[in-house]
Amino acid sequence: MVNPDQAARRALPSVDRLLSTEAVSALIGQFGRMLTVDVIRDLLQAQRDKLAQDNNHFAFDEAAFVAACRDEVGKRNQPSLRPVFNLTGTVLHTNLGRALMPQSVADAVMTAMTRPVNLEFDLGGGARGERDTHVEKWITRLAGGDGAVVVNNNAAAVYLVLNTLGAKREVLVSRGELIEIGGAFRIPDIMKRAGVKLIEVGATNRTHLKDFAEAITPRTAAIMKVHTSNYAIQGFTSAVPEPDLAQLAHDHGMPYIVDLGSGMLVNLEDYGLPHEPTPKEALANGADLVTFSGDKLLGGPQAGLMVGKKDLIARIRRNPMKRALRVDKITLAALDALLRLYTHPEKLREEVTTLRLLTRTRDDIRVQAERVLPHLQAALGERAQAAVIDCGSQIGSGSLPVDSLPSAGIAITPAGKRRGSFADKLSLAFRALPVPVIGHIRDGAFILDLRCLDARHEAEFLHQLPQLRFS
Ligand SMILES: *Cc1c(COP(=O)(O)O)cnc(C)c1O
Repeated sequence: MVNPDQAARRALPSVDRLLSTEAVSALIGQFGRMLTVDVIRDLLQAQRDKLAQDNNHFAFDEAAFVAACRDEVGKRNQPSLRPVFNLTGTVLHTNLGRALMPQSVADAVMTAMTRPVNLEFDLGGGARGERDTHVEKWITRLAGGDGAVVVNNNAAAVYLVLNTLGAKREVLVSRGELIEIGGAFRIPDIMKRAGVKLIEVGATNRTHLKDFAEAITPRTAAIMKVHTSNYAIQGFTSAVPEPDLAQLAHDHGMPYIVDLGSGMLVNLEDYGLPHEPTPKEALANGADLVTFSGDKLLGGPQAGLMVGKKDLIARIRRNPMKRALRVDKITLAALDALLRLYTHPEKLREEVTTLRLLTRTRDDIRVQAERVLPHLQAALGERAQAAVIDCGSQIGSGSLPVDSLPSAGIAITPAGKRRGSFADKLSLAFRALPVPVIGHIRDGAFILDLRCLDARHEAEFLHQLPQLRFS
């Protein structure tokens, strides 16, 4: 009786011996020693387990082993962050990276990443400059106000505004606006962390000017309005008109601040989309500071933009937390390039990728769906039935939650009686494609909304369909 350890020693090569072979040296040359050794160890262990189970029929095949190692090293060396097809029907999908940026923005980012840039360097005077100036002039030109600051995201912007203007004091917010955004952003929690005491005003559905007036005390630092971006309060409702709230704040010598969430620099109605409040409107309504996101409707990089009164902006810049929340040159390069596109609104629809996707018509998407359908049906074979359908896309990221954009797509249902986990299995199979395809399931059907299938990537999408495997 040979004990399993001895058997393994005899049947399997050592890691060192494998490392000295030409094939493995080539792997090390390509992928490096660390990953190669990890894989050899793991696959040898798998061989040892196999041997322990059945040593009579075990034979080690070195060529096959090295080939398996090459596959596995290649797999482990794949980037973790990979492109996917977002056919969920949600355009600004937070989990899929929100806004897609135009090529001109990507080019600007590439330059900033690979070459020295005048990030905080005044090319005129040669002295130290301020990084936000690269975008401040465009934000104020497009939104109004006389100063702007940029930080990492809008959550950071809200935090910084509250911490700067309201620390150890009170800020009034309507009960109807105490929002939670996905990913644990809640206004009451941010307020607490910013050192601000939240004073809830009015009722969930109705808040009146006198509610605010009665809540003001010597400890009140500001009145804040939060755009209820991801839900709508309907029915017997009432909110105080913004100019009245602004007036009340100003009568008491305090700022009126607005968190817009999405915020868009142009009127979306001009592009056939539902209206979304703009920073310009908020400032015109009397806001002293407005905060909004860079990667929602604006269509740029993750960022939080603050625009408004110069003295308040200056106070925000002096807050030491600004240093902790500041953006890098990559974000600034992207914003700079993006904001310049907004100076030419006639071309915006073609230039800003998210706007192009949001404004695609159902007819246009339907034509694409008809084109894709036969390829998809061929890949599915007899087991499933694909059909072009009308559907509704969501803007996403909490923008305009009640409105859906008329869209088209493909619904896949089982050909026979099979129900149950059919759609789940199909959804898994599409996610396993080389460029994973993400759809959604409704009423037992797997649905692909084609709004975000960019024409430039359609060939890639079709090309990989024959690799679809599901049982
Ligand atoms: C999305 C949103 C935020 C958070 O913005 P991020 O850029 O995701 O950090 C804050 N407030 C409102 C109203 C929002 O809609």
